[in-house]
Amino acid sequence: MSNSEQARVQSQNLSPDKVMHKLVSLAKRRGFIFPSSEIYGGLSSCFDYGPLGSEMKKNIKDLWWNSMTRRHQNIVGIDASIMMNPTVWEASGHVASFNDPMIDDRTTKRRYRADHLIENHIGKLVRDGKQADADRVKEEYEAAAGAEDSNRALYEIITGNCIKAPDTGSGDWTEVRQFNLMFQCNMGAVADTASIVYLRPETAQGIFVNFHNVREASRMKVPFGIAQIGKAFRNEIVKGNFIFRMVEFEQMEMQYFLKPGTQLEAFEAWREERFRWYTESLGISREKLHWYKHDKLAHYADLAYDIKFEFPFGIEEIEGIHSRTDFDLKQHQEYSGKNMEYIDQTTNERYLPYVVETSAGADRLFLALLSDAYQEDVVDGEPRVILKLSPRVAPVKAAVLPLMKKGGMGEKAEQLCRELSENFLVQYDDAASIGKRYRRQDEIGTPFCFTVDHQTLEEGSVTARYRDTATQERIDISKVGEFLAAQLVKA
Ligand code: ATP
Repeated sequence: MSNSEQARVQSQNLSPDKVMHKLVSLAKRRGFIFPSSEIYGGLSSCFDYGPLGSEMKKNIKDLWWNSMTRRHQNIVGIDASIMMNPTVWEASGHVASFNDPMIDDRTTKRRYRADHLIENHIGKLVRDGKQADADRVKEEYEAAAGAEDSNRALYEIITGNCIKAPDTGSGDWTEVRQFNLMFQCNMGAVADTASIVYLRPETAQGIFVNFHNVREASRMKVPFGIAQIGKAFRNEIVKGNFIFRMVEFEQMEMQYFLKPGTQLEAFEAWREERFRWYTESLGISREKLHWYKHDKLAHYADLAYDIKFEFPFGIEEIEGIHSRTDFDLKQHQEYSGKNMEYIDQTTNERYLPYVVETSAGADRLFLALLSDAYQEDVVDGEPRVILKLSPRVAPVKAAVLPLMKKGGMGEKAEQLCRELSENFLVQYDDAASIGKRYRRQDEIGTPFCFTVDHQTLEEGSVTARYRDTATQERIDISKVGEFLAAQLVKA
């Protein structure tokens, strides 16, 4: 095994806590992610994206947006407001039931999601080879959803199976209570119940209520989709794992409206396309992605899968793909009194379209990309940290480095940097040794470095250095822009 392979294996063997610690510290040090309002002690589960982070997040969102609205003639985008008429959330069922069951441990004073405790326990039983026990608990869990007192049923599963908190091993449980995740605020001068508005807990409803507006304005015929990227807010009971679970986060959602009866075919097509997007467009390792089929479906769904990613702390959801039937349009039809039906102009059929939705989180995906890309290896006998981000995702596409500032190399490099900046985000750096400068770029995932040296001045070529292999080749300075464009297409 080569030095570099050995170091990579060592880094992959780091404990999950250590990997997360390294990611959080790199993210802050290099300007990807800062704790929100840090000088005041921060705010739990709120984060700010720094200069590199905001560029990278924009790349992720642009790639998603283009994969929906450019690649599909029948998908258009919208940008709906965060606050809406509060009846939207009554119709959608969020006021009554966007609840999570929470349970407290009296001894440690820690709070948990009761459903998560049970799901973790089932997973552990399966991993320990106790399939029969896992099936029994799963059955009890499924029955709890339909129980008259589901809180009590969840409590009895937890206590009856001696389920303990995974982080502390303690299990001094209170009763289970339901907790609504929506943030409320008051609109206008008087704070009374009539002025309550909600910060949207998902972007989807902005799409459903605009179904007819978009269809008419864009002359869309079923099947068609509406895509949206935007902030959502959830007062999560259990926060944490850096940007994995935040109270303010961004969703990238697409609702695909179709004729009832065609949903399974569309579902399969979207399932395939969305999985491919992660591996082919974003370059995420195939083996770290997993499918999870929901056995316990939400009341509105007739089929649901999640795409999960192997984070350092466990395999967790990054995107949900749900067949939502006509639930949402039906609800909005009832609550608004407006007809939400679609009329097929060729057959004169009238129906409420069914919906297949793809719902991804931009922040979770950001963390998945960071943790997938993070590696430590050894180049030329020196250890380095490297983010093996796909060039499409990487915040900085290239660095332009004069070997020395003197002798005309600095000016030549600045000129190249100016030219490339017309089309790409590039960085000029002339501080410290060339090796240090390469490492600085490796650590932020810059896929290419162009070095201006003596030969550049003599014969007009620069060194192109590839981040992942640290190999170099010479290319003509006039071809650098073309080279970069070709590499980004190839990525
Ligand atoms: P979880 O079970 O992990 O809470 P969810 O099933 O409630 O997630 P959805 O309502 O399906 O999530 O939301 C779609 C996507 O939005 C998720 O796959 C995830 O990427 C993202 N998301 C949801 N909640 C959060 C959050 N609190 N912080 C960051 N991203 C989130």
